[in-house]
Amino acid sequence: AKQAGQGNIRFFSHDLTEQARRRRTLEEGLHRALEREEFFLCYQPQLDLHGGATVGMEALIRWRGPDGQLVAPMEFIPLAEQTGQILAIGQWVLRQACRQGRAWHDAGFSTLQMAVNLSPCQFLQDNLPQLLDQVLLETGFPAHCLELEITEGVLMHDPVRAARMLAVLREMGVGFSVDDFGTGYSSLAYLKRFQLDRLKIDRSFVRDCCHDRQDGAIVDAIISLARNLGLDVIAEGVETASQLDFLRAQGCGLVQGYLFSPPLPASEVTGWLTSSIA
Ligand code: C2E
Ligand code: CA
Ligand code: CA
Ligand code: CA
Repeated sequence: AKQAGQGNIRFFSHDLTEQARRRRTLEEGLHRALEREEFFLCYQPQLDLHGGATVGMEALIRWRGPDGQLVAPMEFIPLAEQTGQILAIGQWVLRQACRQGRAWHDAGFSTLQMAVNLSPCQFLQDNLPQLLDQVLLETGFPAHCLELEITEGVLMHDPVRAARMLAVLREMGVGFSVDDFGTGYSSLAYLKRFQLDRLKIDRSFVRDCCHDRQDGAIVDAIISLARNLGLDVIAEGVETASQLDFLRAQGCGLVQGYLFSPPLPASEVTGWLTSSIA
């Protein structure tokens, strides 16, 4: 592509659709985002439904671009996956989340779990165990407090390889959740072969679980499945008290969603933890 100085694309731009132009701007911005320190993490509380305590936090990346506007992860993560930039970004996320987790442990919240989203290509990197080892050592965050969230697709893409990677990382003490559970195409037969800790019910099922009989049945089935396989289950995207009541009645153990808290900037987490544990 031809560029007219300062990364400002002029030439050919009239040929591009609005979408392609947006994509290229994002791609160029992403290149510099790490060095310019434009990323930061927010943390969404995960609560134990029984005692109501916050047991963990999910780290969610945020990008404030050069123009000061926030770009949604749903927009830039898929792009970063296509360009391969996700590897460097994902490393940064892992390190930052563990560093922050350690700081909260040191502040007295010593059992807090940290959930980190892993992109498919991160999970399939042969050097992931070494990277994790290095990050845990460097940050002093305990492996057993780290929970990696992966999707069904990454498990089913190459089940043998995925099972091997899971085994190695589980051996290190790291836990695994299957994110967006129910939206992919995992074979239930495979589920028992993978060493997993937790299923995360996708928020599309949670949204209508108390109005839509089918969504309710799916939520119910995932909770029973998890229980029968000896896995934890967490519902994401819980927004209303009736959803909460439904989940509680079905025996869901953990919840996360706007009903409790949106993803919080790090500076607000200590306050949250103090008031939610007291
Ligand atoms: P996800 O992992 O399924 O994360 C949950 C998304 O739901 C987050 O959106 C969160 O802010 C949002 N959410 C939380 N509670 C509620 C609720 O009650 N209602 C609704 N409607 N939404 C809720 P976010 O932060 O925009 O992230 C979107 C997706 O981007 C994530 O989906 C995940 O797939 C990806 N992502 C975010 N951070 C990272 C990261 O550090 N690494 C990777 N690889 N992917 C990430
Ligand atoms: Ca997630
Ligand atoms: Ca999810
Ligand atoms: Ca998702």
